[in-house]
Amino acid sequence: MTVIGHHVDGKRTAGNSTRRGDVFDPATGRRSGQVALADATDVAGAVEAAERAARDWRDASLARRTAVLFALRELVHARRDRLAEAITAEHGKVLADAAGEVQRGLEVIEYACGIASALRGGFSENVSTEVDSYSLRQPLGVVAVISPFNFPVMVPLWFVPVAIACGNAVVLKPSEKDPSAALLLAEWFTEAGLPDGVLNVVNGDKEAVDALLDHPGVKAVSFVGSTPVARYVHQRGALAGKRVQALGGAKNHMVVLPDADLDLAADAAVNAGFGSAGERCMAISALVAVEPVADALVERIAARMAGLRTGDGRRGCDMGPLVTAAHAERVRSYVEAGVAAGAVPVVDGRDVTPDGEPAGFWLGPTLFDHVRPEMSIYTDEIFGPVLSVLRVGSYDEAVELVNASPYGNGTAIFTNDGGAARRYQHEVEVGMVGINVPIPVPMAYYSFGGWKASLFGDLHAHGADGVAFFTRGKVVTSRWLDPRHGGVNLGFPTQT
Ligand code: NAD
Repeated sequence: MTVIGHHVDGKRTAGNSTRRGDVFDPATGRRSGQVALADATDVAGAVEAAERAARDWRDASLARRTAVLFALRELVHARRDRLAEAITAEHGKVLADAAGEVQRGLEVIEYACGIASALRGGFSENVSTEVDSYSLRQPLGVVAVISPFNFPVMVPLWFVPVAIACGNAVVLKPSEKDPSAALLLAEWFTEAGLPDGVLNVVNGDKEAVDALLDHPGVKAVSFVGSTPVARYVHQRGALAGKRVQALGGAKNHMVVLPDADLDLAADAAVNAGFGSAGERCMAISALVAVEPVADALVERIAARMAGLRTGDGRRGCDMGPLVTAAHAERVRSYVEAGVAAGAVPVVDGRDVTPDGEPAGFWLGPTLFDHVRPEMSIYTDEIFGPVLSVLRVGSYDEAVELVNASPYGNGTAIFTNDGGAARRYQHEVEVGMVGINVPIPVPMAYYSFGGWKASLFGDLHAHGADGVAFFTRGKVVTSRWLDPRHGGVNLGFPTQT
């Protein structure tokens, strides 16, 4: 059985730990390999390699750093199909969706190619007589990136290119469910000219995460995953004196106002509800229909769902399997809970006939109508292909519902009323808002992040926030001596 190891100091290694995790092909249900689960000594080895590399990398010129990123961009672009195949083999999402994920990751590499502009500081001449002041942004040293299973390429790429472009060295801990794509990326970084040790990949689970959180050599942690783990990582990392950004789970609402184009809204609800089998932190899982549109909207969504093909992501299907048998079972139990609580299953994914091997981790797209806010299918993040329709009487009721959610990652409003849309973007307590756009994932030059229980910390991912996160500010006040000296003066410096 293949053992998927680590990438430390530019080389593949099996590590010290003998613990292993199973990796599956979700479309066949078969175990495809095992992943090494790092212990604290493995993590320490990777952090030490990163510390050694960081000493030189921080002094590498911007031209040298960006040359590596430009080369990496070309490699990933040329080999994007290979990366997409690696994603589909372990995650299960359909190949076209995996290719979309690679594309969104590429955009962050391209953003990092322009890091020279983003790192420009300010300069003020003559802040006092013949005194100049200027600001610098410098790297932190070694930073850790801990990523979830659902975007094994895009989420690491939200952080790694920006961190490296800013002059840091990185230890990446991917999800143990789909670890292979991150190793490919690390090897391609090496091929692109990145010095050994600047990017290390340590595979593992909670034990590796805890070791990273506690290691004094790690200066900052970028985490993405579920809310309970994000909260824990933020607290434990902050207690150890690290800078932490921890992006958590989501329950994203799509509000449909009575004047909306219902065909557009129905297409959007299906795409955003069932793409990647709902395993997206920006998936729409709660559709808030402002009456009287609910009946017409549910009818249109159900009609579209009838045409969806669930199956092996390599066979041109619309929707793939869930990531593991345990996760499929958990999502299925939510469907059962929804039925038991009295929600109306308009389309029941438990009845699906997949275009794939029967042992795959299947659950078809599921649509519930007449969902009430107290039902667990609404309160909990299911992270599967389950879309709940909640019926409300007015715009105000819709906003109240959305803002009462503990999560605040993404939301969308569908309407043809510009005034209503503008009011929504202003009032809603959510970090990323779409107006007639169901999955409003910001481009790489903006920053990605939610509010409330969807993000712990201050700074969002990539864009200006990413650069701020991976650097420390410094301000220099300088005077070059000329023949006129000021003499002794114990007063607080002021401008003269
Ligand atoms: P997860 O929280 O189970 O795991 C995320 C990472 O944390 C993995 O690397 C895992 O090994 C590690 N981990 C798991 N349990 C841990 C523990 N107890 N202590 C320390 N580390 C632990 O999340 P997942 O199931 O891999 O991913 C799905 C979740 O990620 C969903 O909740 C989804 O909403 C969220 N997500 C959020 C965003 C966002 O931008 N907010 C993006 C993608 C995914």
